[in-house]
Amino acid sequence: MTSILIVEDEMNMVIGLKDNFELEGFRVEVANNGEEGLKKILEGNFDLVVLDVMLPILSGFDVCKSVRKKGINTPIILLTARGEEIDRVLGLELGADDYVTKPFSIRELIARIKAVLRRVEKADEPSARDKFVNIGRLRINFATYNAFNKNVQVQMSHKEFEILNFLWNQRNKTASRDEILKIIWGFDESPTTRTVDNFIVKLRQKIEENSNNPKTILTVHGIGYKLIA
Ligand code: CA
Repeated sequence: MTSILIVEDEMNMVIGLKDNFELEGFRVEVANNGEEGLKKILEGNFDLVVLDVMLPILSGFDVCKSVRKKGINTPIILLTARGEEIDRVLGLELGADDYVTKPFSIRELIARIKAVLRRVEKADEPSARDKFVNIGRLRINFATYNAFNKNVQVQMSHKEFEILNFLWNQRNKTASRDEILKIIWGFDESPTTRTVDNFIVKLRQKIEENSNNPKTILTVHGIGYKLIA
């Protein structure tokens, strides 16, 4: 049975989440502040943690950071405040697997939970672990979120992997900026298309031999990008 830890101090939210998760067939435990949440994550054996950012004693960010520092990779989905772009970026940099922005629909959160659980399961399959593709000068494993240049590991953020994976899945075809925004960021909280451009700049620096003269991720003027493979 899938076990989920909810770390949240607002009781109404806790009750709503718990009821819905149990209807999904998840086993649920609750912690009401960051300190208790951290303790439970370190002691327990959860399949996934739903972690609020705004928490008494220790914030969700602090909890996330401590958990990853200890080498524990239990998937974490952050609950962030509306419009706090910084929260999301920081959250993913601190090692969260995904986030949803309050207010969110339970359906959306459950869909995210299932997607993260699927991804983790897939990464555990030996066949997926061995599956690398060559993109530009990198060797990439999308199942395990690993990237190598020759034999040196290249640090790539979660979003960078997601965007690259999306471009790879429709390689040799043009992907519009709007499409990338919709698929990668989704829902109504989309950042601007300039965000996409910024991510492409970062990806090119890692992938291309010469990022000023890209050969792998091409710009399709006025539309978007095309990954050549
Ligand atoms: Ca809270």
